[in-house]
Amino acid sequence: MNSSFILTSADAIQDAILQHESELESLDRAIGDGDHYINMKRGAQAIVEMQPELAALTPDAVLNKIGMKLLSTIGGASGPLLASFFMGMAKVIKEKGNTSITSYASAFSAGVDTIRQRGKADLGEKTMLDVLIPVANQFTALAAQNASAKEISTALKLTAEQGMLSTKDLIATKGRAAGLGERAIGHIDPGAKSCQLMIEAVCNLIQ
Ligand code: ADP
Ligand code: MG
Repeated sequence: MNSSFILTSADAIQDAILQHESELESLDRAIGDGDHYINMKRGAQAIVEMQPELAALTPDAVLNKIGMKLLSTIGGASGPLLASFFMGMAKVIKEKGNTSITSYASAFSAGVDTIRQRGKADLGEKTMLDVLIPVANQFTALAAQNASAKEISTALKLTAEQGMLSTKDLIATKGRAAGLGERAIGHIDPGAKSCQLMIEAVCNLIQ
């Protein structure tokens, strides 16, 4: 994972978010306050605009700067959570280097753990973590088995999709939807949907 892969991923993520405007907006309108699409769009745009400044940096510095930028540009609950993901990832890439699939898997898991700690949430609470935790676990397991990048990206897309769909039948115990009780049932969590889209977009870059 070099810096140019991270920048290409930012473009792919921005495209995926822009292509799903109505879906992301209506999901957050149903069980939140309707701003999730705007938040994600603003964040993606800010990162894409930083590309010239990021291109010369090392991967850990790129990830850290992305985190800091997201903290200052995305509002709502999702801003600080996504920011902490990139900062958590940056730490591990700095320690373990950016050349092995196992270090990417550890970095991804560390990013997810940072979200978990910051949001005080876990699996089954109808949040983005219902996508991120299963993906992190599978990424770690497949990396340990020496699976190829292509095998891993194919598997993670499927797991992200299953995690996103699993939020439909859950009651929310964190975030704005937590106040809705059973009324949240039947709706996919917007943060889970945007995380699934981002994972799919990045996995699609891996041949
Ligand atoms: P807000 O809820 O402040 O309007 P967004 O609409 O941008 O912010 O983001 C909402 C998403 O944030 C939810 O769909 C959920 O996935 C995620 N979220 C909210 N609270 C938490 C939490 N404590 N832990 C993990 N994810 C959370
Ligand atoms: Mg919202």
